[in-house]
Amino acid sequence: MVGSIVALSGFRRIGVLGFWLTVLVGHAGHAGQPARAAWFPDQPATPHYAWTYEPCEDCVRLSAQPGWQLMAALAGVGEVRFLYAAGEAEAHAYSYAPDVVVLTPAILQLDRCQLAFVVGHELVHIALRHFDEDALLMSLMSGKAADWTRKGKVAIDLLTDNIALALRISPHWQLQEREADWLGALLAAEAYGCTLEEGALPYLAAAEGDGGGLAAAHEASFGRAGFLMAFAESARRLAFKGYYLPR
Ligand SMILES: [Zn+2]
Repeated sequence: MVGSIVALSGFRRIGVLGFWLTVLVGHAGHAGQPARAAWFPDQPATPHYAWTYEPCEDCVRLSAQPGWQLMAALAGVGEVRFLYAAGEAEAHAYSYAPDVVVLTPAILQLDRCQLAFVVGHELVHIALRHFDEDALLMSLMSGKAADWTRKGKVAIDLLTDNIALALRISPHWQLQEREADWLGALLAAEAYGCTLEEGALPYLAAAEGDGGGLAAAHEASFGRAGFLMAFAESARRLAFKGYYLPR
């Protein structure tokens, strides 16, 4: 999946072969949407970097399902652009900084709750600005001053041909993935009424997810599922307290 360190630098994913992600500044209270859920973490204090990545060339705009924008609002994010990667055969989702989630045809075939978990996971990466966090960490780990650049790509490019840096930062990537998993599962519960047993767990069971990659950014699927089990009751309570969308 990941042939070089450079390939790690633009975005991230987990999923059958991984999900990936990006970043955005959240604006709670988007018109017609609820405010950030009380249980969702506050906006991080991480500095904001400027991101200039161009989304995939063959992607086209995808109309967001009402639940996707609802989950974004519950995560404190205003507008998210969804793109359809028509030419990609693999079942995966990933995101680009600052506000784009890309979905492939095969991932859209997932059932309602599994897809809600996958999209929720990506939205957490965006809401918590994990890409800004990566840019800052890579700068500091490389001995740079925290403010040496505000260009996200310049900071991320520190990874190029630098496996030592990738290995040093991989524990942080793993923490980000866990954060996206449990919070994404709770977004799916709050918005769609999906329990772990209906969404995240069957998704992970079916995923080939051997995790890893060059710098072990992604935990294997069974490890992710085991971690998520601690949140099964939380998801169940959110799912049954009165979710937003009709089944
Ligand atoms: Zn992820």
